[in-house]
Amino acid sequence: MAELYDLHCHSTASDGALSPTALVQRAHQQGVTSLALTDHDTTAGLPEAKLCAMATGIKLIAGIELSTNWQNKCFHIVGLGIDPAYAPLAEATHNLQRTRLERAEKIALKLEKKRIPGAFEAVKNAAGEGMITRTHFADFLMSQNHVSSQQEAFDRYLAKGKPAYVATSWAELELAISWITGSGGVAVLAHPLRYKLTTHWMKRLLNAFKDAGGQGIEVITSRMNADEIRVAADYAARFDLAGSIGSDFHNAANQWVELGRLAPLPKNIKPVWELLD
Ligand code: AMP
Ligand code: MN
Ligand code: MN
Ligand code: MN
Repeated sequence: MAELYDLHCHSTASDGALSPTALVQRAHQQGVTSLALTDHDTTAGLPEAKLCAMATGIKLIAGIELSTNWQNKCFHIVGLGIDPAYAPLAEATHNLQRTRLERAEKIALKLEKKRIPGAFEAVKNAAGEGMITRTHFADFLMSQNHVSSQQEAFDRYLAKGKPAYVATSWAELELAISWITGSGGVAVLAHPLRYKLTTHWMKRLLNAFKDAGGQGIEVITSRMNADEIRVAADYAARFDLAGSIGSDFHNAANQWVELGRLAPLPKNIKPVWELLD
C-alpha cells in the first residue's frame, strides 16, 4: 500500500472539531498511513490519538504547533517526533494554557465593549480542557449571529487591527524551536506563505529559523495552488530544508481541507519524514 503522510492537523485538544479518536479514524478512512497530530500549543490529545492509532494500524507521529514571536510577528512552528514528557516543553505547554486563558479574558472584554457579552463563558465551555483559540471566538460570534462565517469573524473582530484583537507575547522563535529539538523533534515552519512576507523578510526569517535549529518547511499545505507550491519548494531547496506536507485539517465542514488530500512533495525536495525515526 502506498504511504500517505499528513503531518499537520487539529483535534478538540485545540481548535479542531473532532476528538483525537475521531480524527485518527477519519484519517485512516481517507487512506492516511502516517498522521501527525499538531494541536496549537498542546500535546494533550496525543495519548488518546496514540491508542486509536495502534487500534487502527495507522502510524501516529507526536506533534505540536507552537505559536511563536519573531520580530514582533506571530509564526507557527510545527514540531514533529517530539517527546511530550521533555520537561521544558511540558512546562511551556502548561504555561501556554494560562497565556491563552488570560488572552481569552481580554478578547471577551473587548467584545463586551462592542456590546457582545458572554464570550468568555462560551469559549471556555466550548474548549473544555483544551486550548482556547480565536477559532472558538469565531464559532461563538457565528452562533450569536454576529457574523455568518469564521472568515467574517476574523475580518470584523479577531484579526490583527480589528476591535477584539489582543496582542499576545508568545515564546521567541528560537526558544520555541529549542523546546522541539531538545525533546528530540524536528522543527518545521508551518504554512510559510500565509505570513505574507516579502522575499527579503522571508529570507531573514528562514536564516533565523535555520540558525535556531529549524530543519523543515511545509511545502504542501491546504489550498495551495501550483505557483505557491513552487515558491515554497524553492525556499526549501535554497535553504536546504526538508519538505513537509500537512492538511491543517480542523473540521469536516470545511470541504476544501480534508485529511490526506494533498499534492505529493516535489521530487527534488527531501521529505521531512526521512528525518524522523
Ligand atoms: P490563535 O492561535 O488562538 O490565535 O488562533 C489561530 C487560529 O485561528 C488558526 O490556527 C486558524 O485555525 C484560525 N484562523 C486564523 N485566521 C483565520 C481566518 N481568517 N479564518 C478562519 N480561521 C482563521
Ligand atoms: Mn487553528
Ligand atoms: Mn497555523
Ligand atoms: Mn494548524
